[in-house]
Amino acid sequence: MIKNNPWQQAKEQLAKTARYIDLDPLVHAYLSEPERVIEVHLPLRKDNGEVATFKGYRVQHNSYKGPYKGGLRFHPEVSMDEVKALAFWMTMKTALINIPFGGGKGGITIDPKTLSEPELERLTRLFTRRLAHAIGPDKDIPAPDVNTNPKIMAWIVDEYSKQVGKNTPAVVTGKPINKGGSLGRTEATGLGGTYVLLEIVKRMKLNPKDLTVAVQGFGNVGYYIAYFLQQQGFKIVALSDSKGGIYITSGIASVEQIQKCKEEKGHLAGCYCIGSVCDVTYKKQVQGRDISSEQLLTLPVDIIVPSALGNVITKKNADAIKAKIILEMANGPTTTLADDILQKRNITVIPDILANAGGVAVSYFEWYQNIHNKSWSKEEIFKKLKSKILDATDAVWKAQQEYHTSMRDAAYITALKQFENKSVK
Ligand code: NAD
Repeated sequence: MIKNNPWQQAKEQLAKTARYIDLDPLVHAYLSEPERVIEVHLPLRKDNGEVATFKGYRVQHNSYKGPYKGGLRFHPEVSMDEVKALAFWMTMKTALINIPFGGGKGGITIDPKTLSEPELERLTRLFTRRLAHAIGPDKDIPAPDVNTNPKIMAWIVDEYSKQVGKNTPAVVTGKPINKGGSLGRTEATGLGGTYVLLEIVKRMKLNPKDLTVAVQGFGNVGYYIAYFLQQQGFKIVALSDSKGGIYITSGIASVEQIQKCKEEKGHLAGCYCIGSVCDVTYKKQVQGRDISSEQLLTLPVDIIVPSALGNVITKKNADAIKAKIILEMANGPTTTLADDILQKRNITVIPDILANAGGVAVSYFEWYQNIHNKSWSKEEIFKKLKSKILDATDAVWKAQQEYHTSMRDAAYITALKQFENKSVK
């Protein structure tokens, strides 16, 4: 039994919410298991001639509202139960923001940093061939997640197109722009989270300029959320990635500069910057402090933003958290037990299925543009994104007041009500 098994926790959340709204037992039964799970065996000849084997997964959780939709994660901790939970959360997320998709997720149990680029491409193409029968623009549409990116999506389009005999960009989202990607998709998850947080702090009658923020994870999601929050006046005081972090109580001057430093050094630890020059030797001058990614979560800040992996807020550290707001940009960062502790401590947790829904919203816009041969401007996309996110935030806020629950329970209630309206026979 995996500790803090995410799939177990997802099912507990479903059961808990079902009780609030007296969910039809048949709908509950449909949602309590994936419609289909696929496990594939992936042998790879390495560049040095040796053969290694990997496991890949695709979980197709639910398709009432449309084709399965969800990312592909390449990470050593990917397991069937993790993918099942992530797929379930996609079903909830697409319902919550009201787009015509169901939920799916996939991945390979691999540390992609141990592969050369040609090895990674061969592995991705084999994975695509194994899944080709099950995915497609009107069946199941993968996207990037942890350690996958537009380049990997382009390999999938190319390989899938070969399999089906025609160019099919709509088989995945999160593609490079010149391969049918949408403007704004790269920054969509971070921007969506920014819209959610701005709206919540406004309703809590707080001013962004008075709020300090610590962001854990500095990949696609972590970078953009930190960048946009800084633009909106929040004070970013701490950042971390898998190799460690930095903490500057007076505020990190430029998130963009940290990103440039990370690109040069390969990690953000030690990125203490004065103007455009960043160096570990500036630590004293900027009154910086090296921190671990775990320490970041318990800093004396107003808002913490987990933006890396799941299960980072547990019963072990929930009591030590000092922030008053947690914006869950990662999927599943808080365990069920920790969630109970945070609720008792009156900490506002903005749940993942709302906070990070901007990514799948713009993925939907990308798919729509591909299918209808359209090309929307970034301005148009951000306007549509904002409207989707604010509608969902408002619905969750209202459900929270109506049911006197946490924001997480309210988000699930809002999502599950979408299924009540569907005739399940
Ligand atoms: P990514 O691969 O671009 O970045 C992951 C980041 O997390 C990297 O900076 C890595 O160094 C960091 N990290 C890994 N282990 C860490 C640790 N122990 N402590 C601190 N940092 C650590 O992935 P991403 O696309 O940014 O996804 C991040 C999270 O957001 C995931 O939970 C993902 O499921 C979720 N999410 C992503 C999207 C999207 O559009 N990419 C959408 C919704 C949700």
